[in-house]
Amino acid sequence: MSQHLKHFIEGAYAEASGGARMNLVDPVTEETFATAASGTAADVARAVAAAHAQLNGGAWSKLNCAHRGVLLNKLADLVERDIDALADMDAKAIGRSPMEPRMMDVPNAVANLRAAAGWANQLEGRTIPTSGYMGIKTLSYTIREPIGVVGAIVPWNSPLMITTWKVAALLAAGCTVVIKPSEETPQSALHLAALCQEAGFPDGVVNVVTGFGEVVGRALCEHPDVAKISFTGSPEAGRAIQRIAAPLFKRVTLELGGKSPQIVFDDANFDDAVRGCAMGLFVNQGQVCAAGSRILVQRGIARKFAAALAQAASSVKVGDPSQAGVQMGPVAKKAQYERVNRYIQQGIDEGADLLAGGVSRSEKGWFVKPTIFANATNRMSIAREEIFGPVGTIIEFDTDEEAVALANDSDYGLAATVWTTNLTRAHRVAAAVKVGAVGVNCWSPLDANLPWGGLKTSGIGREGGLVGALAYTEEKVITVLLP
Ligand code: NAD
Repeated sequence: MSQHLKHFIEGAYAEASGGARMNLVDPVTEETFATAASGTAADVARAVAAAHAQLNGGAWSKLNCAHRGVLLNKLADLVERDIDALADMDAKAIGRSPMEPRMMDVPNAVANLRAAAGWANQLEGRTIPTSGYMGIKTLSYTIREPIGVVGAIVPWNSPLMITTWKVAALLAAGCTVVIKPSEETPQSALHLAALCQEAGFPDGVVNVVTGFGEVVGRALCEHPDVAKISFTGSPEAGRAIQRIAAPLFKRVTLELGGKSPQIVFDDANFDDAVRGCAMGLFVNQGQVCAAGSRILVQRGIARKFAAALAQAASSVKVGDPSQAGVQMGPVAKKAQYERVNRYIQQGIDEGADLLAGGVSRSEKGWFVKPTIFANATNRMSIAREEIFGPVGTIIEFDTDEEAVALANDSDYGLAATVWTTNLTRAHRVAAAVKVGAVGVNCWSPLDANLPWGGLKTSGIGREGGLVGALAYTEEKVITVLLP
C-alpha cells in the first residue's frame, strides 16, 4: 500500500490546493512507492503566512534565545530516537543503503541540532567606539535580529542532513522556515516538521511544502515575505534563483555543485590514498557535491595508482542495497542514469582510457557501473563537468605548481584533498587551491562546527559553524546620545 504524503503547514498536514500529486519512484524496482502533494503558489503563500505570523507577534517571537536552545536539544533527541525510520526514508527514495544515512547523515543532523542549540545563546552584538555625534558623546552597540522567514530549498542526495544544515541554524537565530524538499525525497523533511511539533516548537515555525522546483521553489523565491533563500542544489537552479532574488534584494545562500580535485603526490601513503580516493568517488553512488571526481596523480606513480583505483572500482558489488554484500545501489533517478551514461560515452569518445566500468545497460533499476578513466586531460568534459555519479577521471602531473594549476583550472571550487607525507608541501598546496574546504590525507569531515561552502560555480556563502547561524541574522546598530 503506497503512502500519500501531504504538506505540513502551521502544525497540520494539508493537501495541495489543486489536489495534484506527484509520484515517488523506487530506483531499484522503478515502481511508485508513494505519492506526495504537488504544491502550488497558493500553498506556499499559506505556509509563508504562518511562518510570518510567528515572527510578528506569534508565540515564537516571544521565546527567548535560551528557550530556543532547549527546543533544539529536544528536537535532536527526537531525531536520534527515530534514527532508523529517518535513515530508511532517505535511503529508499534514492536507492541508497540505509547504512550510509544511519552512520553519516542522521548523526550529522543530530549534531547540527545540538550545536545550534548552543549557538542560540551566542549570537551576540558588539559595543563600538565612535567619534560621537556633533561633538556629543554617544553609545553605539549592535544587536543580532532574525533575518525573517527563510525558504529552505533542498536536493535529494542527503535530504535530512542538508535540511538540518539550514533548519538548525535558522531556528537558533530565531527565524521561521518553509522547507521545499526535493521532489524525490520529501519524507524526512515532513517527519522532521512533525518532530518539531512534538518537541514543542509553535505551529507555523517549521512548515514543509512539497512539489516541483519550478512551481514551489519559484513561488518561495518570488514571495515578498520570504527574506532569505537558503538553497542547495545545481548551479542551473542556483542561477534561476539569483535572477528572481536580485531585483527583490532577497538574501541568498547557494551551495552548488563541484568537480573536486584529489591531488595524489608520489610520496603519499599509497594504500591510504587509493582507499581515500575510492571513497571520495563512490560514496552515495558518487552523488555527493564534494565527490572527488578529478584525480590528479603525480606521473611517477600514475599507472600503478590508476590500476589500483580501477581494481577498487571493479570490486564494488552493485545491486539492490537491501541484499547482503551489496556495496552500491542504483543512482537516484532515470535522468541521473541517462546523464551518467552520457558522460561515460563522452569520455570514451574524447579519447580517455577506460580502465573500469563503462556504459551500463541495466534491464531494471538505474544501476551504473563504477567507472575509472585514465590518461585524461583537464579539457575533457569528464574533467570539467559535474557528472554526479560514480565516475573518476585520472589526470597526470609532474610538479607541485602544475598540480595546483590543474586543481584551480575549474569552474568549480567546493573541496579538495591532498595526499602526501611531506608536511610543508601539504600546507603549501592546501593554501594554494581555490576551494572552500581541503582535507589533507583525509576527507573534510562532516562536522557541525565547521563552515561549509564553495567558491565560483560552487556557490555563495557558508553553512555550518557559528558563521552559519550568524548568516540568518541582520546586525542592527543602535546609537544613544549621551549629553
Ligand atoms: P536541483 O537544482 O535540480 O534541485 C535542488 C532543489 O531545487 C530541489 O528541491 C528542486 O525542486 C529545486 N529547484 C529546482 N529548480 C528550481 C528553480 N528554478 N527554482 C527554485 N527551486 C528549484 O539539484 P538536485 O538534482 O536535487 O541536486 C544535485 C545538485 O545539488 C548537484 O549539483 C550537487 O552538487 C548539488 N549539491 C550541493 C551541495 C553543497 O553543499 N554544495 C550538497 C548537495 C548537493
